[in-house]
Amino acid sequence: MRAVVYRGVNDLRLETVPVPRIGPRELLVKVAVCGVCPTDIKKIQHGAVPPPRIFGHETAGTIVKIGGGAGVHASRFKIGDRVALHHHVPCGGCHFCRHRAFAQCAAYKRTGITAGFEPAGGGYAEYVRVMPFVLPGVVKIPAKNSFAEGAMLEPVNTVLKAVRRLNLLPGDAVLVAGQGPIGLMFTKILQLARIRVLAADLLESRLKLAKKFGAKWTRLANSLSAAGGGEGRGEVVSQLDAAIIAVPSDDAVTQAFRLVRGGGQVLLFAHTKRDAPSPLSAAGGGEGRGWVAAFSLDLASVCVDEKDLIGSYSSDFTLQAEVARLVFSRRLDVRQLITHTFPLAQTAAAVALAARPAEDSLKILVAGTSRCAVRRR
Ligand SMILES: [Zn+2]
Ligand SMILES: [Zn+2]
Repeated sequence: MRAVVYRGVNDLRLETVPVPRIGPRELLVKVAVCGVCPTDIKKIQHGAVPPPRIFGHETAGTIVKIGGGAGVHASRFKIGDRVALHHHVPCGGCHFCRHRAFAQCAAYKRTGITAGFEPAGGGYAEYVRVMPFVLPGVVKIPAKNSFAEGAMLEPVNTVLKAVRRLNLLPGDAVLVAGQGPIGLMFTKILQLARIRVLAADLLESRLKLAKKFGAKWTRLANSLSAAGGGEGRGEVVSQLDAAIIAVPSDDAVTQAFRLVRGGGQVLLFAHTKRDAPSPLSAAGGGEGRGWVAAFSLDLASVCVDEKDLIGSYSSDFTLQAEVARLVFSRRLDVRQLITHTFPLAQTAAAVALAARPAEDSLKILVAGTSRCAVRRR
């Protein structure tokens, strides 16, 4: 089969590799589409893990083979089922799981889906092997929904998990900094919970989209801290109950800390790079380009004003059924977020575009075949 193999920093190659062999109770899934995720981009561009690997973990496809053996999940799955995959499932019983810190669970950190080499998701290939310990996370895609919608369950899950980390009440006001695909999901999910969203981004085009996704107010990111003027500014800025930082910008964190009121929360969603030396400048690249890097925190704002700085990483397996209802019912219509689908052979181009989004690009998918042209929405 064909697969895109990570061979080193920024080195993705279309290669021919064996179709994965499956063992007892495992599934072989023919990949239909796989989303390009910022966490994969980080690994590809910074060499965070050793090659070779086949990345891609936001995968949807069709079951083409089921391994035999005792306790086979034949009752739940059959050949031909269209499914969305979930590559991390926590053990449920360890210290971290009991504290609901699933992303810290050792079992969770094991990747249970592979197209070959060290398991890394495998979605940038024609077929993936799904191991038994992640089967509880596999979701069937209803007939009326597309594979692309199935591939969006994983990122939506990470967003819903983060929202659940916040102590919000209906009517509260929340800043969502960054209106890329993830930021727009935050905006919509918060709006569905009757939260009033102040959406910020550097691109006017994305602020227009944010309005469509339910933002009550929008603001260009570089005008967030300026005082006075503008629609709704006085009404909102002094009364934010929380801020979600969906761009890897330290300055956005500093601003957010000033803007949330006492007892409020600031949640980091995009600061995934360790030891980042103030990574972004006005000339910087990627999702946060244009935000100026600088983080300083008056600790009295934590102690006296009782503002919390929290983070959220990866998904919460226990939310998966709720996420599936949200996406497949189209209350959160993820189809509007998908702007490009690249053929497998052009995975490197898909990753490059996702890393430096254009005015018209949001979520980017890779199709599990080399024989389709780049499709734009
Ligand atoms: Zn992802
Ligand atoms: Zn655990």
